[in-house]
Amino acid sequence: MNDLTIQKIKSGPFYESSKEQIRIPLITEIQRYCLQDGPGIRTTVFIKGCPLKCPWCHNPETQNPKRELYFYPEKCTGCGRCAEVCPTNASSISLGPDKASTLNFERSKCIACLKCVDACLSQARGIVGQVLSIDEIIQEAVADKPFYENSGGGVTLSGGEPLLFPEFTLEISKRFKKELIHVAIETSCFAEWRKIKSLLPYIDLFIVDIKTLNPEKHKTVIGCPLDIILKNIEKLIENHANIRIHLPIIPGFNNTEKDYEAYFKCLSKFSKNLLGVDILPFHCYAQNKYILLGRGDTYQFAGVEDLPQKELLPLARGLKQIGIDVTIGGLVGLGDIKRRNLST
Ligand code: SF4
Ligand code: SF4
Repeated sequence: MNDLTIQKIKSGPFYESSKEQIRIPLITEIQRYCLQDGPGIRTTVFIKGCPLKCPWCHNPETQNPKRELYFYPEKCTGCGRCAEVCPTNASSISLGPDKASTLNFERSKCIACLKCVDACLSQARGIVGQVLSIDEIIQEAVADKPFYENSGGGVTLSGGEPLLFPEFTLEISKRFKKELIHVAIETSCFAEWRKIKSLLPYIDLFIVDIKTLNPEKHKTVIGCPLDIILKNIEKLIENHANIRIHLPIIPGFNNTEKDYEAYFKCLSKFSKNLLGVDILPFHCYAQNKYILLGRGDTYQFAGVEDLPQKELLPLARGLKQIGIDVTIGGLVGLGDIKRRNLST
């Protein structure tokens, strides 16, 4: 805990600032000098907590809004210091026939009290999710303002899902705008429209993920209805918001010709109103994070090969044909500083 104004809400994983009187999410990372989360050089704030359950999630540490523990077994020396402080016996030591000690770690018993993180001298434990005040986040991001100004960059609120914390997202966006910083949000748009509407004056760019246009798969695999998302995109367009669409393309989930046809049909309606579409090919770089979070067994994409760009060319060409500015892999910061109607 780093700020006296921040108090833990007993019933939940969130924090509220008595100064700002709003619920503040945990932050997994503030990443500086990002080149792929919007135009120019950006600082990306990763918010912890998401209502969706995409099984390929590239940021699995941001799915659960609660604080979590990374465990790096290869760094563990079996010293037993964590077992001495663990209140629930989630960490315990057993001695083998050769008297060598081995750590047993039962995640189901872990309450994320994090006592073992301080106790471990081998850095075999890490905290996922920090409490930061809005002031601290602003301060961190403002430090790179000269880079934003020179590159056409700014701040991107990502996650996780920023709209899961609408008051926080609104407040921090207002504060960034006061600092004359360009604000982008990476979102699924799965939220009540009134929450998105309140953000319109403060968000310069909405980067909206569409996971699939198959309503049934959206409901069963992603865990929420598709129609809310599509209606919100339509309302963003009616309100002249700047929008880029992200299409994560996942092997075996949304990479058939039929899927691509559905994208062409849907996005052709919006083509004149989008800044562009970024095709994001699946990669399994996140596999290690699932392992560190103790979820390696349930990760369905273990060993699945990255999608080569050439497999995405028919999708990219089809989108171009309907008049959409398209990238494979997303904007590469310095190469695209195009913006429209920036509110300051
Ligand atoms: S976080 Fe707390 S409960 Fe979990 S293993 Fe560490 S000491 Fe035990
Ligand atoms: S304190 Fe660290 S190194 Fe020692 S047993 Fe626990 S995790 Fe392993």
